[in-house]
Amino acid sequence: MNGTIFDSLREQVRGQVITPGDADYDAARAVHNGMIDKRPAAVVRVSQVADVIASVNFARDNSLDLAVRGGGHSGPGFGTADDALVIDFAGTSGVRVDPANRTARSEAGATWADFNHATHAFGLATTGGIVGSTGVAGLTLGGGIGYLARKYGLSCDNLLSADVVTADGKFVTASETENDDLLWALRGGGGNFGVVTSLEFRVHPVDMVHAGIVIYPLEHAETVAKFYRGHLAAAPEEFGAFLAFHQGPPVPFLPEQWHGKPVCIVVGMWTGDLSEGRHAGSRSSTLHRWQVPWWVRCHIPP
Ligand SMILES: Cc1cc2nc3c(=O)[nH]c(=O)nc-3n(C[C@H](O)[C@H](O)[C@H](O)COP(=O)(O)OP(=O)(O)OC[C@H]3O[C@@H](n4cnc5c(N)ncnc54)[C@H](O)[C@@H]3O)c2cc1C
Repeated sequence: MNGTIFDSLREQVRGQVITPGDADYDAARAVHNGMIDKRPAAVVRVSQVADVIASVNFARDNSLDLAVRGGGHSGPGFGTADDALVIDFAGTSGVRVDPANRTARSEAGATWADFNHATHAFGLATTGGIVGSTGVAGLTLGGGIGYLARKYGLSCDNLLSADVVTADGKFVTASETENDDLLWALRGGGGNFGVVTSLEFRVHPVDMVHAGIVIYPLEHAETVAKFYRGHLAAAPEEFGAFLAFHQGPPVPFLPEQWHGKPVCIVVGMWTGDLSEGRHAGSRSSTLHRWQVPWWVRCHIPP
């Protein structure tokens, strides 16, 4: 596609419009999953809602597919597409906390590390992803599971309202009192209902927590998984944990011969009373395992 057609978009937005041939095109089209190698027609790094409205209108008027990127962590790479216009929110990552009303409003490019950092200052948090680099928008629109989900519900359960630019370029707010059907769709329906420019969440009193990670040789996975299932079902809701299969990470407490080898990992977090929670994740076990001193006192890890 002729790059000059984007000149009119450049005139309408404050953010950068990057097309093939621009020095940072390869960086602008990259997403978290390195196996995804798409070549969009242009990437627009939006700086404000006006840029989003202009971009949506431009894509529609020029029959371009539109892809939307928040944190860029979609496994299948839905935040980019060949020959599409990509709206990239990475430059909009502000989070405004309202401690009196226990709410927080996030711009669409914020990651969970950005969000946790902002709300922790007020001793507040909501359910986010277990990895800080995932995007608030993409994760919430898909549902969103995290350490706090057992007590406070999914990320989308805590979504109070969202500002959205619809396919016809209109700006609307979706909440319980306005466009409630759109809010219902956004709460887990993914990114197909419009371009979300900000999200307002309910936040909860969560300050310091205990967190830890335990790594087991893969041959113990069946035993670990059975124990995990039973233990979690009976554990207090303040305890959240995840079981995963990984390549052994190069962390100091894991012997070097296990680095890069298949291992079974359990990560957990206690968000209740700190004096009670010390033992919630500790269970005696005869299994061989490596672990950080279980229950490190910290705030929600970025
Ligand atoms: C390392 C890693 C850890 C993960 N951990 C968790 C976890 O703990 N819990 C969990 O629930 N999921 C987790 N996921 C999955 C993750 O929630 C999804 O991949 C999610 O789509 C990522 O959101 P993003 O904004 O980073 O991705 P992006 O690739 O930027 O966006 C993915 C899709 O979301 C939609 N979208 C994003 N922003 C907007 C917007 N502003 N308006 C409209 N639509 C939008 C679009 O359809 C977009 O294509 C993880 C993924 C990875 C790679």
